[in-house]
Amino acid sequence: MPLAGPARRALPAAAPAALAGARPVPYWLDQPGRPPPEPPLNRATAAGLAVIGGGFTGLWTALLAKERDPAADVVLLEGRAIGWAASGRNGGFCAASLTHGLANGRARFPAEIAELDRLGMTNLDEIAGAIARYRIDCAAERTGELVVAVAPWQLAGLHADAEAARALGHDVQVLDSGGVRAEVASPTYLGGVWYRDTCLMLDPARLAWGLRRACLEAGVRIYEHSPVTDVTGEGRAGLRVLTRDGTVLAGRVALGTGAYRPLLRRLRHYLVPVYDYALVTEPLATAELASIGWRNRQGLADAGNQFHYYRLTADNRILWGGYDAVYYNGGRISAARDANPATFARLAEHFFQTFPQLAGLDFTHAWGGVVDTCSRFCVFTGTAHGGRLAYAAGYTGLGVGAARFGANTMLDLLHGEQTERTSLTMMRTRPVPFPPEPARSAVIQLTRASIARADRSDGRRDLWLRTLDRLGLGYDS
Ligand SMILES: Cc1cc2nc3c(=O)[nH]c(=O)nc-3n(C[C@H](O)[C@H](O)[C@H](O)COP(=O)(O)OP(=O)(O)OC[C@H]3O[C@@H](n4cnc5c(N)ncnc54)[C@H](O)[C@@H]3O)c2cc1C
Repeated sequence: MPLAGPARRALPAAAPAALAGARPVPYWLDQPGRPPPEPPLNRATAAGLAVIGGGFTGLWTALLAKERDPAADVVLLEGRAIGWAASGRNGGFCAASLTHGLANGRARFPAEIAELDRLGMTNLDEIAGAIARYRIDCAAERTGELVVAVAPWQLAGLHADAEAARALGHDVQVLDSGGVRAEVASPTYLGGVWYRDTCLMLDPARLAWGLRRACLEAGVRIYEHSPVTDVTGEGRAGLRVLTRDGTVLAGRVALGTGAYRPLLRRLRHYLVPVYDYALVTEPLATAELASIGWRNRQGLADAGNQFHYYRLTADNRILWGGYDAVYYNGGRISAARDANPATFARLAEHFFQTFPQLAGLDFTHAWGGVVDTCSRFCVFTGTAHGGRLAYAAGYTGLGVGAARFGANTMLDLLHGEQTERTSLTMMRTRPVPFPPEPARSAVIQLTRASIARADRSDGRRDLWLRTLDRLGLGYDS
């Protein structure tokens, strides 16, 4: 049980001390209920559809394929365990936005934003429907998201975004500093906008595990600890999917491999692995929770370019993540990078600046994960091997909800169907590629430095960022 507030350590020692006992594992994956793994593939088999990747993209693809045709023969191959990667270690903000936020969507797809917004809301409603229908116990709460300004320059953008959301028919509440602090008490808040209908807060690992169960019950054959090493064409017979100890001869293949080394070479130009980090506190005592309010349990984010996202868990811990979006030069993914002590310390410091009344609270978990970042921050899809293989990737840190849309679009493409989804510019075109290394690292680090400078300079974007804006390019987590 947590200590009572006054007995706790005070700032400034609070931040490093609070991390001393934090376990370096994702909070969501460190809870009871993790299913035992399905056995790996160790033989030759065949399938109508082979889905590669057991995160939200792969899970929804397999499940939707069975919903479309219960007789479909679907295999899902996961390199490690279902939901171990980004899908099981994120903030659990399941947003309607398909475009990494309305502002990004309006900037990049102005002619389609109303349609994208409508399709995103339908997708979110259908996710909520599936959670209920499959009885997935993932603590889903449609509390919406509260975006707060923590510097005066952020207020104008916040209000413009609220106006744009309202014009699309959303339930939006603009709050002044008193109003926002009445919702959640932080001395740093200057104003806020509560988007009441566009976000479902949930436990992502339990969603992944629930989707896994729904897939198995629908007859999907799942193989875990079965990394796919190659996909090759077999003419009319389809595609051969190779793992270390087995193969699948598949009529169609769907790739949902996130930020990991793409099995399709061309995708390497469009995706970079960006690390995002998060902390979780011990459960708040009743008095501690009362000291911040937060009765409406919204997901929260601040409005800087480098932003924090935070939320309550079902047992009233606070998950606090974001801010640093780290690209390690060379772009290699490694387990060692799931921990970044400097970023953890920075996050902890910012936490106590936001909630000084919680000084002395301890963090129990600190972890990182990889985000599949593309230069326009939102999912793109396409096909290869004469339309027999489809891919969906590039969610750039907002894929919990959008993954289902990417999955549905892949199935449309694999069936050769022209739908509202496949007709979207966002889905028909690809983002601008990143340059190869070492230029890639140089460009990304320059951009990160410029973004940090903009946040320190009242949001003023330097020549480099303005040039990227003009070219429709960017970097984010
Ligand atoms: C710390 C953090 C916080 C985040 N917070 C949020 C948030 O609050 N809201 C939000 O919307 N998004 C958030 N995101 C992003 C979100 O988690 C992702 O966009 C989403 O989970 C992507 O799902 P995915 O299935 O495409 O990828 P992943 O979950 O990464 O799954 C890909 C899977 O493919 C498997 N794989 C890869 N290669 C192979 C292979 N060759 N063979 C077999 N399997 C393979 C991997 O093992 C992995 O399981 C966050 C991400 C992180 C890391």
